[in-house]
Amino acid sequence: MSAEPAVVPAVTVPDRPAVACWIAGQGRAGTAAERLSVIDPATGRVVQTVTAAGPADVDAAVAAASAAFGGWSRATPAERSAALHRLAGVLAERAEDLALVESRQTGKPIRLARGFDVPGTIDNTAFFAGAARVLDGRSSGEYSPDHTSTIRREPVGVVGSIAPWNYPLQMAAWKVLPALAAGNTIVLKPSELTPLTALMLAEAARDAGIPDGVVNVVTGTGPVAGQALVGHRDVRMVSFTGSTAAGRAVMRTATDGVKRVHLELGGKAPFVVFDDADLDAAVQGAVAGALINTGQDCTAATRAIVHADLFDAFVAGVADVMATVRLGDPFDEATDQGPLISAAHRDRVAGMVERARAAGARVVRGGRAPGGDLAAGAWYEPTLLTGVTTGSEVWRDEVFGPVLVAVPFTTDDEALRLANDTPYGLAASVWTRDVYRSQRAVRAIEAGCVWVNDHIPILSEMPHGGVKASGFGKDMSLYSLEEYTVVKHVMADLTGVARKEWHRTVFRG
Ligand code: NDP
Repeated sequence: MSAEPAVVPAVTVPDRPAVACWIAGQGRAGTAAERLSVIDPATGRVVQTVTAAGPADVDAAVAAASAAFGGWSRATPAERSAALHRLAGVLAERAEDLALVESRQTGKPIRLARGFDVPGTIDNTAFFAGAARVLDGRSSGEYSPDHTSTIRREPVGVVGSIAPWNYPLQMAAWKVLPALAAGNTIVLKPSELTPLTALMLAEAARDAGIPDGVVNVVTGTGPVAGQALVGHRDVRMVSFTGSTAAGRAVMRTATDGVKRVHLELGGKAPFVVFDDADLDAAVQGAVAGALINTGQDCTAATRAIVHADLFDAFVAGVADVMATVRLGDPFDEATDQGPLISAAHRDRVAGMVERARAAGARVVRGGRAPGGDLAAGAWYEPTLLTGVTTGSEVWRDEVFGPVLVAVPFTTDDEALRLANDTPYGLAASVWTRDVYRSQRAVRAIEAGCVWVNDHIPILSEMPHGGVKASGFGKDMSLYSLEEYTVVKHVMADLTGVARKEWHRTVFRG
């Protein structure tokens, strides 16, 4: 790891208006008692402080979304598609500002924001612009001699969405875009730590000509604004991305209102390296998969399960590549890894590593917060642990930091048992040159996505979402579009006969 002070090109991050809410096409302060600060985690400096949104703001936002629903849901697919294409254009024009603001509020390296978060969001927008025109209903025809049946796919209504802080713009987009494409209106609650790019997305929607009230944002805390949104009488569907614990709280509240629920929760992805794997590819892939976004990625590689014959070479290789990872100013294109989201989260990650060490784990690399220029921020070194037991906290629980755990195995059955030895089931990867072995592993692993000889890439066309404690429902892809629709069966009589044959089962006449 290198942390030498670099000569960093000067950047000017655009100031954003100090608003917590975007309601009916306008930014405004919240009305809750609390004040919320966006803090640059690289330096610990306050970027902006706003008055949080509370239940009254949620009411106003839901009212705006309800008022806009009639017009937006009746717009033709072509009209909604055109609006989303315009939104993709506005986002592309503002790509650099979005990347700068995203990097400032999360601390993520500008290279990641410019190369992944922002282009991914624009591509998603373009995808859902197209997808808006291909909603279809299967099974239309005569399933009884006397009737024609058709299927209508209709929007659900007002959607309440809650997004996390790790990819604030992308997570907002994953919630907003399929909902809009299907004709819903939305109230989004971003994380209180990172609201700025979600507010920019809502502003871009207005500037793209999407009618006021279709996209609304309320930035408040989860327990107050989040719960008010999820429990709101006029919210028909709740989509959530975040921790399993908060997801349970969201689901409990949504259950009372019998609302449709979509949950994208945590992960603890296995990274299985069989003895015939390309070792160099596995080493490079493990470092990239474990450290992306400083490990704050629900699909990040967290548990390397490596054949005993390759284990020592794999551990040495990963440690060597981790040693090349540069921590430093997130706005320097040469920086590889940024800080964690907050000092509190850094302390949580450090605590998990310390408890693992105390229980006998070997810290092969990292395992500490760097000092010097980085001491004021929420930094943590890339960390590799071996010698952990499979019942331990660091094996079972989400660390959500730049920490990879490696364990050896000897048989394929053992490897697959270890891969599934987790309450989560979001993502996994298998590394092998044997096509038969790869397909057996794909079948055996319980996860929403299994990569073969890679780990992390995602596509707008393909679904993202988990099983087990990782939740249910899909983001991205046409599967996600379907989540935001209800299926209506329309059954029309063909005969025009008043006294129908089946009436005899009710009254003889
Ligand atoms: P949370 O699940 O607490 O936060 C995610 C979102 O849910 C935020 O907008 C938060 O609001 C909101 N929220 C929190 N509690 C409630 C509630 N009771 N009702 C309604 N909304 C709520 O995640 P954290 O930010 O605390 O991160 C903790 C852990 O969550 C991480 O270590 C990681 O394991 C996991 N996580 C997983 C993510 C994923 O992509 N799967 C993303 C982020 C975190 P606010 O923050 O404004 O209070």
